[in-house]
Amino acid sequence: MNNFFIDFRDPLFSIIIFFAIIFIISFSSYWWGRYKTKEESKDLDKFLKQFRTLPSKDELKTLISSGELSEKSWLILANSYSKDGDFEKAIEIYHEILNLQNNTTKKETMFLLGKIYFKAGFLERAQKVFLEILRTSPRSPHALHYLLLVYEYMRDYKMALEVLEPLEQLNEEIDKDNAYLKSLALLNSTELSTQEKADELLKIHETSHKLTYMIFEYLFRVNPKQAWENFDASRSELLTDILWSLDSQNLDLDIISKNSYLRELYSARGDIDLADESSVFELNLLINLKNTNANATLNFEYMCSNCKQRYPFAFNRCSSCHAIDTIDVQWRLTQDYHKDYSEENNSFQ
Ligand SMILES: [Zn+2]
Repeated sequence: MNNFFIDFRDPLFSIIIFFAIIFIISFSSYWWGRYKTKEESKDLDKFLKQFRTLPSKDELKTLISSGELSEKSWLILANSYSKDGDFEKAIEIYHEILNLQNNTTKKETMFLLGKIYFKAGFLERAQKVFLEILRTSPRSPHALHYLLLVYEYMRDYKMALEVLEPLEQLNEEIDKDNAYLKSLALLNSTELSTQEKADELLKIHETSHKLTYMIFEYLFRVNPKQAWENFDASRSELLTDILWSLDSQNLDLDIISKNSYLRELYSARGDIDLADESSVFELNLLINLKNTNANATLNFEYMCSNCKQRYPFAFNRCSSCHAIDTIDVQWRLTQDYHKDYSEENNSFQ
């Protein structure tokens, strides 16, 4: 019987007590948090029921200054307006909170106001807000990141690059932004020739080993020969859509024949006959359909590997999470309407 009970002087007894206390504290704080959130949203629901339509600007002013709802609740409300695309209403709320004499959420509200201006496309207003935040809190990486985005969207790459300096001082990762902004500045330059841009972009790729999709999309478009000369065949899969839409006269058969993925890709497209099968399901199917009348091709879509947002078009900076170089090219089989159309036209000749 003595073995069954633990003596209170036993070290094991203290450990059990310790974990029991931790469990009780976490359990009660979890339920307290849930209770508070529920109460807050109840208050908000009750409050909103007063309105059949959205409160007007003047009504908002009176309501916010009356203090009937906490600033936090107003921020939650503004966020839901913003999610529904009603940026104007959210902006009005942020402004009224900032007009309060003793507001306790000034920095947070300023940041949200800047973000919503950016989201709504009011870049100059967003710039002013982020500069104002940085005037009082220069060590604010979130505001700096957004200021960089604002300059980038304004196509002021020089200013965007200048923002990298304080970010680096705050130990933020800036290598990708640096390579990306320099590449954007080159692509948008009106002084450089197409070839000069291609050469400079290649230098960026050689030193950074980043932005393969962005740089090779341009190279294959303007100088396929140079693109093949500098092409790392191990990155072929990443560039599948670019390689798939390349003109057959721009193929480098020497390079293609030396890489198994490229052999399978162009055998599937029907340019060469150097693969009987492929481990990629769609390519394997296309290789096997080659001698039939099936008009099939690949259709592409693009996913951000960081936030999993999908796009029907290629991107270099994800417009959802703002990550750079996170493109993940995906494909599926589809009917080849182009082939159908050209065959139909040829039959009338
Ligand atoms: Zn993303």
